[in-house]
Amino acid sequence: MVGVIGVVLALGLGQVLLMEPETKEMTQPEAGSSQPDRWKAVHLLVSDPAQMELVHQAIKEVLKPLGVNTIVFEVNYRFAYRSHPELVMEPAMTEDQAKDLTKLCRSLSIRLIPQFNCLGHQSWAETTFPLLIQYPELDETPQIPKNNPGIYCRSWCPLHPDVNKIVFALLDELIDAFEADAFHIGMDEVFLIASDQCPRCRGKDPADLFAKAVNDLYDHLAVKRKKTVLMWGDRFLDDKEMGYGEWEASRNGTAPAVDKVPKDIIICDWHYGRRDSYPSVPFFISKGFRVLPAGWKDEEAALSFLRYSRQFPPDKVLGYMATTWVGADEIARALLKKGNFSETAREAAQALISCMRELKAAAD
Ligand SMILES: [Zn+2]
Repeated sequence: MVGVIGVVLALGLGQVLLMEPETKEMTQPEAGSSQPDRWKAVHLLVSDPAQMELVHQAIKEVLKPLGVNTIVFEVNYRFAYRSHPELVMEPAMTEDQAKDLTKLCRSLSIRLIPQFNCLGHQSWAETTFPLLIQYPELDETPQIPKNNPGIYCRSWCPLHPDVNKIVFALLDELIDAFEADAFHIGMDEVFLIASDQCPRCRGKDPADLFAKAVNDLYDHLAVKRKKTVLMWGDRFLDDKEMGYGEWEASRNGTAPAVDKVPKDIIICDWHYGRRDSYPSVPFFISKGFRVLPAGWKDEEAALSFLRYSRQFPPDKVLGYMATTWVGADEIARALLKKGNFSETAREAAQALISCMRELKAAAD
């Protein structure tokens, strides 16, 4: 989902919908309204934890006044994990920094949802992330050199008997540090799956393997820990039907997994280009999912996606999420218009502001 950029990714909604996986969804209406509050969500990516004060400032001074009620905070390996210190990627966010952010968001009635990219996105460019460095036996493609020539991102093996125990410990730490009631498991852009290099997965159906990874995570997060699960939707979309291309949709056999996973997973349906229609939205609704559309830095495209999605009822399309795809401190500088930031950050901030203003105006 982030394939078009090559930056910090290397690392890898306040009164809102509260739902338990096995219970009827409860919605909290806005004051004076019988309508549920749409998610006005922003996706942020941890970069330099030393700059978290700036991120706090941007949340207080820009995002909250825009009506933002949800922040998905992508952490991945940049957290001071106690269960697996060997998997910490520096600079790492401390537990105290997570608790400070949690406290701030709670004081502003912003729902804070941590994210850890699962299955895919285990490397970026020439950097392989700690899991597959420390535990190379978990690698789906162990024959590919660790500087990743010729591939996009590594994947872990969804059938390795040791992988879930390690990963679940990390997810549990994030849930506890962020006091989260929901969790985003990533799962986008998994290109390496059912590899001939893997003795466990070779010859198996990619859709079955992808669904197993989702279901294992769901069992831990939703069934055991009673958290709402969010994930990116691209691997569930068959590009032959959708026509989005091989990034936003799947050409590697994973799409049938859409019928093999629980329907109360919230699908973050990301599309960054301008189109007349976005067929994935009614597709996911028809399959029984709730959809959170996610756009990026092309302001017209983001507004186009937002407006298209709003024709669907709010219990099906929960709202809108602005992605940023620069580090959280850089998008904070762009939102606050202070210090240095890239053109990408400026555009992402502008698109975010325009979409949140439109959502806020519609709700007023
Ligand atoms: Zn495997």
